[in-house]
Amino acid sequence: MTQFQHYIGGKRIPGTVERSTDVFDPAVGTVAGRVPLASAEEVGRAVNAARTAFPQWSSMTPLHRARMLYRFKSLLEEHASELASLISREHGKTHGDALGELERGIEVVEFACGGPHLLKGEVTDSVGTNVDSHSLRQPLGVVAGITPFNFPVMVPLWMFPVAIACGNTFVLKPSERAPSAPVRVAELLSEAGVPDGVLNVVHGDKVAVDALLGHELVQAVSFVGSTRVARHVYTTGAANGKRVQALGSAKNHMVIMPDADLDKAADALMGAAFGSAGERCMAISVAVPVTDTVADELVARLKARVQTLRVGPGNDEETEMGPLVSREHLEKVTGYIDSGVSEGADLVVDGRNFVMDREGHREGFFIAASLFDRVTNDMRIYNEEIFGPVLSIVRVPDYRSAVDLVNGHEYGNGAAIFTRDGDSARSFASEIQAGMVGVNVPIPVPMAFHSFGGWKNSLFGDHHMYGPEGVRFYTRLKTITSRWPGGMKSGADFAMPTMK
Ligand code: NAD
Repeated sequence: MTQFQHYIGGKRIPGTVERSTDVFDPAVGTVAGRVPLASAEEVGRAVNAARTAFPQWSSMTPLHRARMLYRFKSLLEEHASELASLISREHGKTHGDALGELERGIEVVEFACGGPHLLKGEVTDSVGTNVDSHSLRQPLGVVAGITPFNFPVMVPLWMFPVAIACGNTFVLKPSERAPSAPVRVAELLSEAGVPDGVLNVVHGDKVAVDALLGHELVQAVSFVGSTRVARHVYTTGAANGKRVQALGSAKNHMVIMPDADLDKAADALMGAAFGSAGERCMAISVAVPVTDTVADELVARLKARVQTLRVGPGNDEETEMGPLVSREHLEKVTGYIDSGVSEGADLVVDGRNFVMDREGHREGFFIAASLFDRVTNDMRIYNEEIFGPVLSIVRVPDYRSAVDLVNGHEYGNGAAIFTRDGDSARSFASEIQAGMVGVNVPIPVPMAFHSFGGWKNSLFGDHHMYGPEGVRFYTRLKTITSRWPGGMKSGADFAMPTMK
């Protein structure tokens, strides 16, 4: 059985055995290894390694740092299949989906390779007579990232490449459910020439997270996970004087207008709702057809496709949807389907009681896809994030009701509209209360040179992640106003300095 290790100061370090937890292979349903859960003292060791690395790393030229990131990007590409296998084995997603996750993460590394350009400041010649001003962005110091199970590589890559390109050093606390790939990624960063201690990985649970939130050397915390924990991270980190960006849960709606291409909308819904078994923060979990006619036609198109979705282990090329991450999560998702039925929604396709009849996979955490029609906004399956392969259809009579429905939800991560009409699309983009909007794009995850983040209870803090917002989050602005003796007047002046 694998004993997972931390990665501190450029070395794999075994954790103490007192606290550890099982890591599962969800497609098999058995324990694949044990991961240590760091104590506050072990977290302190990782923070100190990052602190020790900071002076040299932050004083290196941005170009020098960027060249190492170029090498890191090449190494990630060379090791893509190995990393995708590690992701798939502990998360359960298909190999192809894991490769896609990695590619979206590599895009952020490519963005971070532009560090020398991104850190350029602004200059104003002659803000006053013989006086010039320039501004620059400086790193914060040691920063931390806490990440969820569902993107073991992509979400860490949203954070640390931008942070270290800006000159910070980093402590990553990945999900204890998928610990292998983040450590392998850290090793590849070392192989690219990045000095020991610039990126450290500590495994752990609430104890490790709270130790990071309370550590005086940690200047900023990036978090991605559920809203319950995001709120705790934000309030505790902010109370301790840290800069915090905490991204939380989601319930993403897709509005289907009567003029939409319904075949394409149904195709888009299949991938967006059931890809990665619905365990994506940008998954579409609510479809909102406008008018009953559109709803009837959409359900007719979806039903057969949902029933025939191929469920299987992630390493089988035929598989369209892998297992859920854990038995506990499987029970939770099944419980939501039970609750939808008891609350009166119409269960068109029932994914419960799915039997995986394949040698070696009978105990895997599999469930088939489910489709609910006639869901209403007072039901639990509508209000809460299920994070599984369950698509709810909420019928509305007109565009206005669709917008009111989306805007009435507590979460505001992503929202999409399918239409051929430019006016509806433009109004939707303008008035919808969500951080990321798709027009005929079901999962509008921004490219790396824009920024990712939701609104309302999907994000706590002021900055979105990666892109220009990431650079602002991981740097402090400094503005310098200067003049030289030849331009200075003699004599003291006690009035507020002005440009006269
Ligand atoms: P989670 O909140 O359970 O865990 C996230 C991280 O917090 C993990 O590293 C975990 O170890 C730690 N953690 C868990 N409980 C904690 C506690 N009580 N105190 C301190 N730290 C704690 O989330 P998850 O189950 O790993 O991931 C799924 C969730 O993440 C979903 O809600 C999903 O929507 C969300 N998510 C959001 C985004 C986004 O960009 N908004 C992206 C991916 C996932």
